[in-house]
Amino acid sequence: MTARDVGLPDRYPASGLPAQVTIWEVGPRDGLQNEPVTVPVQVKVEFLDRLAAAGLPVLEATSFVHPRWVPQLADADELFGLLSRHNGVRYPVLVPNERGLDRALAAGVTEIAIFASATESFAQRNLNRGFDAQFAMFTPVLRRAKAAGLGVRGYLSMCFGDPWEGAVAIEQVVSAARRLLELGCDQLSLGDTIGVATPGHVAAMLDAFGRADVSVDPLAVHFHDTYGQALANTLAALHAGVSCVDSSAGGLGGCPYAQSATGNLATEDLVWMLDGLGIEHGVNLDALVRTSAWMAAQLGKPSPSRVVTALGGCSRATNPPGQC
Ligand code: MG
Repeated sequence: MTARDVGLPDRYPASGLPAQVTIWEVGPRDGLQNEPVTVPVQVKVEFLDRLAAAGLPVLEATSFVHPRWVPQLADADELFGLLSRHNGVRYPVLVPNERGLDRALAAGVTEIAIFASATESFAQRNLNRGFDAQFAMFTPVLRRAKAAGLGVRGYLSMCFGDPWEGAVAIEQVVSAARRLLELGCDQLSLGDTIGVATPGHVAAMLDAFGRADVSVDPLAVHFHDTYGQALANTLAALHAGVSCVDSSAGGLGGCPYAQSATGNLATEDLVWMLDGLGIEHGVNLDALVRTSAWMAAQLGKPSPSRVVTALGGCSRATNPPGQC
């Protein structure tokens, strides 16, 4: 091993990629809601503080879903009261319905995310209503959120495959996405909820959006690393013009629909690739890795992130190899 800093990759910019990417950090919400251990609220507050200090611009903080469905995030109201909001950092929250919106407004949130399904089966299982009926549920939430001046993101789940239906038609995804954008979503995150996408599928999906005259500008991507494809899929999305990528610090969250430790794309793995490509993101990798190593200790299990594992919880910038 040479004496160079192994805590950062060498930079080799590639053509046809965005100069800057917004990392939408979902670890505190999507990550922790899928961990079996419920983390104390003070630990969540410190996690959010540390992520903000590491330079992450968007922290999806929690979910105002009924605690019966997501007991790990039952402290959403309390958490928002304790949160110290860093300057310039956005703290969106997940909101399932009007009751959730009421709680979010009472907590003083400025951005919400709603979650929709690209398939009938998942709409029935996750939302307890049909594919078409879900849009009727979102309509008053969006109307009231926009009237209150909130930013609204839409999540679209099962865009690349569904565990009950198998393949999902690209045209159906584009159609559902268009409906959500027409309802007023400012941004739409295309979710590979079971992690089965491959780069050609991602390229075909985004090409279909273009052919349907749906701009790539409001699109984000949410890949799961269940089959080791998340970074390859992310790169395919960046080549297609996407510049907002969801990821979870330390790869928190596992995969709720597969017996796999690897679920959400790890933010560290994303940052490593973006650094290597010379794409701006604003995140301090060393601070982020130390944060995820700390959170792994809170959860009592190692991070599935390759970069967190490779750096041993700290980079050579602060600790030489062997001393981490
Ligand atoms: Mg996820």
